[in-house]
Amino acid sequence: MKLEDHRFPCPACGAPMRFRPGTTALRCPHCGHEEPIPDARGGIPELDLRGAAEKAVPAVEMEDLRVVRCESCGAEVEFDADIHAKVCPFCAAPIVTDTGVRRYIKPQAQLPFLLTEDEARQAMNRWLGRLWFAPSNLRAYARAGRAMDGIYVPYWTYDAETRTRYSGQRGKVHYESHPVRVRVNGRTQTQTQQVARVRWYPAQGAVARNFDDVLVLGSNSLPKRYTDAIAPWDLSALSAYEPRFLAGFRAEGYSVPVEQAYGEAKEIMDEVIRQDIRRDIGGDRQRIGAMETSVGALTFKHVLLPVWVAAYRYHGKSYRFVVNGRTGAVEGERPYSSMKVFFFVLAMVLAAVAVAYLQVAS
Ligand SMILES: [Zn+2]
Ligand SMILES: [Zn+2]
Repeated sequence: MKLEDHRFPCPACGAPMRFRPGTTALRCPHCGHEEPIPDARGGIPELDLRGAAEKAVPAVEMEDLRVVRCESCGAEVEFDADIHAKVCPFCAAPIVTDTGVRRYIKPQAQLPFLLTEDEARQAMNRWLGRLWFAPSNLRAYARAGRAMDGIYVPYWTYDAETRTRYSGQRGKVHYESHPVRVRVNGRTQTQTQQVARVRWYPAQGAVARNFDDVLVLGSNSLPKRYTDAIAPWDLSALSAYEPRFLAGFRAEGYSVPVEQAYGEAKEIMDEVIRQDIRRDIGGDRQRIGAMETSVGALTFKHVLLPVWVAAYRYHGKSYRFVVNGRTGAVEGERPYSSMKVFFFVLAMVLAAVAVAYLQVAS
């Protein structure tokens, strides 16, 4: 068994080189030597999902990785001899250095980091600065130049050609005039009111769509609402997998298998198909009765997306902030200082009392 080695020693001094965000080069942190990353040859492969279900992914697309597993959040992070992390980058729980080897489907593509760690921290600090209710000392703690972890987070993307036959109903709205009795100035009058009525007609047909890169998170170590909040991703910029883009960063192994994540992809696609059907039915209202979808040309890719993560424990609680390594979008815990909230409410009450007093006085 051959373990993947994702280290790239500096040709000048031998120190491990690191990918430099925003560039297409490796840089030696020791002597400053730079090496361009060669242009990716060939396109990004798409794999057959049925092959994955039958465990028949081509051997060339598989790899064995040594990973450390966090017992607290379940993250499996690639073991890196050059990064001596003692705590989990996702939840700040101590990691027992119990490493194992696992077989993974290799990534087919990645979005390299654009933001440097400094830029990511600036984005986080701007975001924290807008949280007026956050405890000041937590903000200070977060801002104190704390190290962030650059992590490639695993995702699955799915392509599919779908064709859906449906039956349903098209609703046409018309208005009927109804006399109603109302009281005006103490006297009862009869007025005409327009009431909307829907008449339903049977409808059926077929819609087709080509889905490209339906994106599903392949791990559970970051809460989904965080990763959803830092979307969207510029997936058109995906480049063929090149381990040099991972040098000096950590890659998380996927923990949600490709077949399982497809269930979520199908829900996303179904919602799009329903919109297509409603548009196809037309009219003023639509009802979808039955729909039957045939899925062809179903393929997937395993892709890695860059996220800067700051996780720490503060007064016994875990705080986590994530920054999109491409766009700088931030999401994280929204901590509240109970003292600040108390004084804010107190100030509002005093202001209301003052206003009431002035109104009585005038
Ligand atoms: Zn060097
Ligand atoms: Zn963890």
